[in-house]
Amino acid sequence: MKTLIAANWKMHGKLDWVDKPAEFRSLFRANDVVDVLICPPAHMLEIMVRACAGHGISIGAQNCHDKTSGAYTGEISAQMVADTGATYVILGHSERRAMFGDTDEVVAAKTRAALGAGIGAGLVPIVCVGESRAEREAGQAEEVVGGQLAVCLSKLGPEDADGTNLVIAYEPVWAIGTGLVPTLEDIATMHDHIRGCLTTRFGVKIADTIQILYGGSVKPANAKEILALKDVSGALIGGAALEMDSLAAIAAAVE
Ligand code: PEP
Repeated sequence: MKTLIAANWKMHGKLDWVDKPAEFRSLFRANDVVDVLICPPAHMLEIMVRACAGHGISIGAQNCHDKTSGAYTGEISAQMVADTGATYVILGHSERRAMFGDTDEVVAAKTRAALGAGIGAGLVPIVCVGESRAEREAGQAEEVVGGQLAVCLSKLGPEDADGTNLVIAYEPVWAIGTGLVPTLEDIATMHDHIRGCLTTRFGVKIADTIQILYGGSVKPANAKEILALKDVSGALIGGAALEMDSLAAIAAAVE
């Protein structure tokens, strides 16, 4: 399985950031083990698709609506994201959950919509799950994440997930943008738990091929040990993905 290094630019980015893919490639050469994905704000999707095409970097959105079109001011549908040429979409990020009402049920509908978007392949949803600090301290982290996964994936049939069109990101809420990171043991335990949930849901053959990313304060300094863990098949990176030298250093940490 290749390692996916995914950049979440959140609400950062100007049109002149279109030069960043070339800058990234000057720092990190394409290889057979790492896939790179950049998720810019929606206004940059199409221009970034064009800018990244020559560099083998995929583009994804940070959200989509579950309806195809309609009176949903300010929203973008999965089909519209696919029309830009983007191929991934982040769903259920903790900031969407906390600030924009994205419950597990909403994420389930969006995940279904993302997989159905476009002709043929559709978008690859990156479904984010993760516990709060209080939930971890109460010993409920695995139960919470298992519950989130069960609902978020509830609208998918066996034909929907073939292992290549679904990505899970484990992002403990308390680790996002804080500089705090779970212990390596806790990350490994959670990823093993997630793999188990996916096996229950889709069977071992499919579950074993679904990438499970870790996200939450990944930096060049800690990337190597996190990415070396069994069942960690990549990283979803916020702050450290805004500068290409740190994103390239994280990609270079993949062994
Ligand atoms: C994120 O926003 O998905 C994220 C992981 O952010 P950071 O890397 O800044 O913690």
